[in-house]
Amino acid sequence: MPVRWLLTLFNALAIGTILVILGLALLFFFERALINGLQETVQNRAYSAAESVLAADADEVLDPDGVENLTLEGVFIVVRDAEGGVISQTAALSTNVPENDRVWRAALEADLPAAGTTRLSSEAPEYVYAIPVSPAGNDARVVEAGASYGSVSEALVEIRRVLAAGILIALLFAVLGAYFLARAALAPVDAVTKAASAIGDGNLSKRLPVENPRDEIGRLALAINALLARLQAAFERREEALARQRRFVADAGHELRTPLTSISGYAGVLKRWGLEDRKTANESVEAIERESRRMQDFVEDLLTLARGDEKPRMKFEETDLAALAREATEDARATADSDLAIDFEAPERGVRACLDPAKVRQVASILLDNAVKYTGPGGRVQVRAFRRDGYAVLEVTDTGVGIPPEHLPLVFERFHRVDGSRSGGGSGLGLSIARQIADLHGGDIEVQSTPGRGSSFRLLLPAREDP
Ligand code: ADP
Repeated sequence: MPVRWLLTLFNALAIGTILVILGLALLFFFERALINGLQETVQNRAYSAAESVLAADADEVLDPDGVENLTLEGVFIVVRDAEGGVISQTAALSTNVPENDRVWRAALEADLPAAGTTRLSSEAPEYVYAIPVSPAGNDARVVEAGASYGSVSEALVEIRRVLAAGILIALLFAVLGAYFLARAALAPVDAVTKAASAIGDGNLSKRLPVENPRDEIGRLALAINALLARLQAAFERREEALARQRRFVADAGHELRTPLTSISGYAGVLKRWGLEDRKTANESVEAIERESRRMQDFVEDLLTLARGDEKPRMKFEETDLAALAREATEDARATADSDLAIDFEAPERGVRACLDPAKVRQVASILLDNAVKYTGPGGRVQVRAFRRDGYAVLEVTDTGVGIPPEHLPLVFERFHRVDGSRSGGGSGLGLSIARQIADLHGGDIEVQSTPGRGSSFRLLLPAREDP
């Protein structure tokens, strides 16, 4: 059942119950008041009649003029002797004398007023009040006054009718009011529902209208909008990640294709001529070896990147970055051509930082490899370690070919190479691995370069305060 109808039903039930209880209470109150009024009137008349009986002569027990007032509002009076015989009675009772002797007998016997009901007609019972009197010089008597409850019943029927009609009308208004109130209150919910259903899969950028941000519906719409914003962001992140992954797979496939083509080409040559021609066989085997190594290096780089993407466990140690840079420089010098000057400029003090030595060493190797690779004979590579603005910095500067400005923001991207022909067989993954390691340390990597004059790469790691 819709909430609107539930609210209406609940309201109708609640108001209806209250009205019925109120009506019943009112009816009870009226009944009591009417009965009390009737009994009081009858008792008063009985006392008045008793007084006039006490004052009257033996024969004239009820003064015809005085009795007129006593019998107003349907009250009847009966005067009996000590045996119950009727001495006198009002005109209204010319035929019907209360037959029930219980009341007057009780009054006479106890010599105290007594009250009770009797039945003169079939319509309604009568209330009777009897008072014993002993006039001077006369026998004991009893004065009875009574009146029918009929008027009370009639009044109650009327009151019941009015109350029932009132309750029905009030209930009708209450139900109508509750229905329209519920409808008005729930209208914004309908609006929000419509707007929310209009937001499909593709258009997460849509938002619900917020009419009043302070009421319940407004707050609901705001909460849904915030949820939508988070969903949209998550959706976009997922799309981006998927696109990146697709690009990565395509690029990796592309990279693998070149050495594989070479290998299968040389394998063909080997098969066709290698058995007769030893020189061709040697050349082919060497080429196959070279290309396989290239592929191996490339796959190694891919694996390193993939592991880095999964937030690897880092082995942080307090390390002197300067010592680490010196070792890397010495290694590079040992393998590089002798016509290239590779120097390490030692800092005055140690440059201590909390870092993963193996990973930072890998960055130093990547930067040094690149510097050597892109610097011609007679050039110079300089390595430094120093502190700057709370960072421990490893800097590798060369006097090589440099990087064109438009490529600078892209060199850290996966597979990005400035120029395939001059890349010296690199995979384009070295600098992305370096940036990943910098990120894992909460640090950064930056580059400055002038084409034709050289480049300078800097790895920045959060430093420890010097003790
Ligand atoms: P690669 O394996 O091709 O060297 P990297 O990610 O290490 O891949 O470098 C990306 C590209 O940035 C290189 O292809 C090269 O064009 C350019 N590059 C990197 N280091 C230098 C440098 N020291 N001097 C000139 N160009 C560089």
